[in-house]
Amino acid sequence: MPLLGFGVFQTPPAETRDAVAEALRTGYRLVDTAAAYGNEREVGQAIGDSGIDRDEVFIETKVWISDFGYDETLHAFDKSAGKLGVEVLDLFILHQALPTAFTTTIAAYRALEKLLADGRVRAIGVSNFMPDHLARLMENAGVVPAVNQVEVHPYFAQPDVQAADAARDILTQAWSPIGGITSYRDTGTGSVFDDPVITDIAAAHRKSPAQVMLRWHLQAGRSAIPKSVKAHRIAENFDVFDFALTAEQIKSIDDLDTGVRGGPEPDDVTLEAYGRDIPEA
Ligand code: NDP
Repeated sequence: MPLLGFGVFQTPPAETRDAVAEALRTGYRLVDTAAAYGNEREVGQAIGDSGIDRDEVFIETKVWISDFGYDETLHAFDKSAGKLGVEVLDLFILHQALPTAFTTTIAAYRALEKLLADGRVRAIGVSNFMPDHLARLMENAGVVPAVNQVEVHPYFAQPDVQAADAARDILTQAWSPIGGITSYRDTGTGSVFDDPVITDIAAAHRKSPAQVMLRWHLQAGRSAIPKSVKAHRIAENFDVFDFALTAEQIKSIDDLDTGVRGGPEPDDVTLEAYGRDIPEA
């Protein structure tokens, strides 16, 4: 699995094919989508049209909470794989825990374990799982999630979640890795793109703030999946392998953590508030 990948949350279906095609031309070989993003079909078309061998592209997608439950999640695989146009997914993850319906969450995870055993998915994982969710899951599951995809950027680094992941050998994958959520949603912290600590480090390396943040993830061993629909930014976000942050620079970025979450509070996610129908393939 490549550590650096490409995200498509909020990428409209009509723009997804071009964005993913551009990312693949640039060199990305990991694409992160989700049933709830409504663009799996276009992601699959771009990968299919690219001419790149299927086994060279790592495809990950997520089961939405409305499809949790053993049989429902097995069927969610058919819907996602059908839209993506693939037989096997590289990584299939639960998009959120449902803390108030944890038995349903566990049933969904058991379905992932079955898909793994049957060779329909090459790895399974979770997203937005807090340490207590991981602990409750592991009391009932046989397979440790390969990945926990959570919000991580300089203003919200979740060190407790990262430590819980590391303790179980789970790879932390950063969503909103360049702090997109601090600019497209009012989190009250301001946009991390404009933070002087980040812009000063960027100037010192003749790189951009986004590139500095991506190095910060990669040098910590985290996976990161930046999203863009703009060709120049898709290229910029991949051009991060020719410089390195110093230990001091990494520490100064670590120190920017505000503890302010941009995304939904994981314990507040309920079917009533967030449920929605995921169409058939
Ligand atoms: P990102 O941190 O990737 O930031 C994306 C935003 O920043 C977009 O508004 C984009 O605009 C802009 N942008 C991209 N590149 C640059 C750049 N080089 N300089 C300045 N601005 C830039 O945020 P996301 O929230 O999209 O997270 C990335 C991915 O993580 C998602 O696409 C999705 O795959 C995943 N995710 C998962 C979640 C989960 O619950 N599991 C929740 C949220 C995201 P533009 O497109 O116009 O360039």
